[in-house]
Amino acid sequence: MKKSPVWHPFTQHALTPQAIEIDHAKDSFLYTKDGKKILDGISSWWVNLHGHCHPKIVEAVKAQASRLDQIIFAGFTHEPAEQLAEKLVSLTGLDHVFYSDSGSTSVEVALKMAAGYWHNKGSPRTKIIALEHGYHGDTFGTMAAGSRGVYNRAYEPFLFDVQHLPFPEITPQLNPPPLKGGRDGRGDCNTLNTFEKILVENQGQIAALIVEPLVLGAGGMKMYEPHILKKLYDLCRKHQVFFIADEVMTGWGRTGTRFACEQAGITPDILCLSKGLTGGYLPLAATLCRAEIFDAFYAPDRAKMFFHSSSYTANPMACAAALASLAIWEEEPVMERIQNLCAAQSLNLARLEHHPAIQNIRQTGTIAAFDIETENQGYLAAIGPELYKFYIENGVLLRPLGNTVYVLPPYCIRAEELERIYDIIIRSLDHIRHAGAQCAA
Ligand code: PMP
Repeated sequence: MKKSPVWHPFTQHALTPQAIEIDHAKDSFLYTKDGKKILDGISSWWVNLHGHCHPKIVEAVKAQASRLDQIIFAGFTHEPAEQLAEKLVSLTGLDHVFYSDSGSTSVEVALKMAAGYWHNKGSPRTKIIALEHGYHGDTFGTMAAGSRGVYNRAYEPFLFDVQHLPFPEITPQLNPPPLKGGRDGRGDCNTLNTFEKILVENQGQIAALIVEPLVLGAGGMKMYEPHILKKLYDLCRKHQVFFIADEVMTGWGRTGTRFACEQAGITPDILCLSKGLTGGYLPLAATLCRAEIFDAFYAPDRAKMFFHSSSYTANPMACAAALASLAIWEEEPVMERIQNLCAAQSLNLARLEHHPAIQNIRQTGTIAAFDIETENQGYLAAIGPELYKFYIENGVLLRPLGNTVYVLPPYCIRAEELERIYDIIIRSLDHIRHAGAQCAA
């Protein structure tokens, strides 16, 4: 086969020379060019909500495409962008919407809004606080906010300094055992105490705290509880530091509520949305903020405007896809599907509970994850690609994060399809054990 010039993301081409060619997709399935069917267990990198090629989104994009293509968004606007902004504002309780085109850019915008606010107020603040194991994207600003590690080692010298709070160690387990010392266990205290100490020692210098609420995705599907999120938020309030919620992954129902922040009863100062915003159809992002932040850029002085743009800001087709996705939320029983998926994930995770190779079984809403006991852990654990290959050979798309396996399917997945994913997971564990025994022999 002819060698492709395409350079794929997060791919070691020397080890995976051939990408699988997908011809079309429908509901929970991808169909390969050579006639195979792959069950999408990770919503195609966490973007798809209602299933692939949902007819209502397809129709909305088609209709929009023949009416208006991309137009400059400075000084101009259009109906899909206006309507979508109105909807996002009413869903989130925030006041303003800034469009961009990916999760990373939504976070870049959030960081620039926070820093720009303090600059325009005449008291610049340069410190950003984030969570250990956090991931916010692959551009330089978002890499800086993310935890340092394998994803950004080569670029570390270029990254601005960000202080990372220790991750709250207590994760929501299946059938959680009573926690010794109550809910404020060791992990939570450490996170909150460290944050409070940093806040006190750096009064007037911290622009914002940025967190992935409830689930840290690419950092290993690490989960923490809403009461910790609430306390982090309260500390931000107390010390007048902006609270940025990066809901790029957790938004749009993944954690069981439309937005993860709802479970802590909080409205962030700045909210980053992307991925599921268009139902997984087209690239689009929105950074929402409170009026107070917008107002800091609102002045007769042109030097105080928000200096950020993307050429494809508020792409009309992408906005139309997002509106169609939101209409699906209103017209179809999406919340019920989410609840059913949460319950089905719990039932299936319970099948893994006593497996000797599995640790840290955890679930937040529709997201299920567990770790496999291995000698080397982390993203480069050898077991990751081995499992990936096994899953693909068995018609399932799961992309372990090193020794962490997670299942994050679209909400249209049927009970028997989810069960099949777990059948393959169980078989993969036996396969590994068998392969291990052969190596030892
Ligand atoms: N924030 C979070 C929490 C994410 O999970 C991701 C992507 N996985 C991003 C930001 C970056 O999004 P994108 O890949 O669309 O730039």
